[in-house]
Amino acid sequence: MNIHLPHLIFNAHISCNTRMLQPTIQTKVCIIGAGPAGATTSLFLSKKNIRHIIVDAASFPRDKVCGDAIDLKVMRVLNQLDPNIVQNEIIQNNHFTNSWGASVIISKKKQLHFDIDKQDGSLPFFLVSKRAYFDNFLVSKLDPVYADFMQGTAVKSIRRENNKWIITAIRNNEPLTIKADMIVGADGDHSTVLRCLGERKIDRAHYAGALRQYWKGISGFNEQNRMEVYLPKSLPLAYLWIFPLANDEANVGCGLVSDLIKKNSIDLKKLFHQLITEDPAIAHRFAGATPLEKPIGWGLPFASQQRNVYGDGYLLVGDAASLVCPTTGEGIGPGMISGLIAAEFIARAIEHDRFDKSIFTNYDREIYKRLRSDVRKYKLVKKLSPMLYNSVIKIWASTGVSGYLFKLGAKKWMRTASKPIEVDMDD
Ligand SMILES: Cc1cc2nc3c(=O)[nH]c(=O)nc-3n(C[C@H](O)[C@H](O)[C@H](O)COP(=O)(O)OP(=O)(O)OC[C@H]3O[C@@H](n4cnc5c(N)ncnc54)[C@H](O)[C@@H]3O)c2cc1C
Repeated sequence: MNIHLPHLIFNAHISCNTRMLQPTIQTKVCIIGAGPAGATTSLFLSKKNIRHIIVDAASFPRDKVCGDAIDLKVMRVLNQLDPNIVQNEIIQNNHFTNSWGASVIISKKKQLHFDIDKQDGSLPFFLVSKRAYFDNFLVSKLDPVYADFMQGTAVKSIRRENNKWIITAIRNNEPLTIKADMIVGADGDHSTVLRCLGERKIDRAHYAGALRQYWKGISGFNEQNRMEVYLPKSLPLAYLWIFPLANDEANVGCGLVSDLIKKNSIDLKKLFHQLITEDPAIAHRFAGATPLEKPIGWGLPFASQQRNVYGDGYLLVGDAASLVCPTTGEGIGPGMISGLIAAEFIARAIEHDRFDKSIFTNYDREIYKRLRSDVRKYKLVKKLSPMLYNSVIKIWASTGVSGYLFKLGAKKWMRTASKPIEVDMDD
């Protein structure tokens, strides 16, 4: 573990009548959470030669409940960091399943497949990698010259004193204090930072409940490794996914918008079990397969609920900032993009040695503008009729031109992976 000694001072701390030495670490920037959003913030700060601390409650590799689908926004961010990572460390890496197509399952009889021609040198449509691997892959790239990465360090509270943050954490069962000019809240959906800021409010219309279960031996995959999505009848704004992984394994799960879960009194675990054991559209695929764990649930905070993503001495990124695409459930790409953008704003703050709210003006514009069209679509569907969304997808998928349009859209999408992400901080 790298704690650069110049950061460290020791304070006397009295506890249970015993005098102990409680370390206080001083830093300009402290990132709380080292998931994709926090790790990306750190990687881009290091690229700008900015020293910082990044803490995470977990020790890596650690699991994160997810569908494990890594979209091309992720490749775009990594390409901007270093093009060698994608080409030399991801595409040929067996921990990343390259997917060259998608299937929309409507019923047992109606299953629509969309394939893309594999082309040398081109990126696949999607990649699938267990988060235990992918997140560890990202933190292994943290640069020890600029980043003090403190794993196993759980932040318990933050408070503001004399324009600085006092972060109280527990590390190896010992208390630890970090004093920082600014913090980056990257601690995910159950964010302690958000709670301490009084900002963790959940609006069920902009939040989804979802669960995941790893399986081995599901039948019916093909060499294209299609991303499969099943739209069960009468379940609006919900889908069940089957995403292929290495070693004959798959990530299977389902998710649904929380207000509809409540309105229809849905028990997600029961529903999931029913679909994979009884639904004629997919149950036969699981007949000879083995579950590798019990289903595990987690939440998805949608970008359709805008949060106060910056303030005096802080920025939020990823799930802590509520950045999940509401129509697809993707949060890794938007989280990493927010990390890249946050690093630009932090660099400006450090250059001016100012950490007040106004130095972060336009941060919210830069992160939300990339999610605007998805949010608009979601809000429109919710306003008209949630049933409409699945129906439109079903109708679209069934038309003769959908395959052609899919290929066209996919090609355009694949070209974006090499496009730089530009951040405009000016008014
Ligand atoms: C069931 C499900 C399926 C999903 N499927 C997909 C998908 O296929 N593709 C996709 O793109 N997105 C998917 N998502 C969304 C995606 O998982 C999240 O958007 C993404 O993980 C957000 O990254 P993050 O870095 O913001 O947060 P996280 O990945 O949650 O990382 C937060 C980090 O903060 C740490 N932390 C938490 N509290 C503290 C604390 N107090 N002190 C210190 N550290 C702390 C945690 O240990 C963790 O490492 C899915 C989500 C769910 C629930």
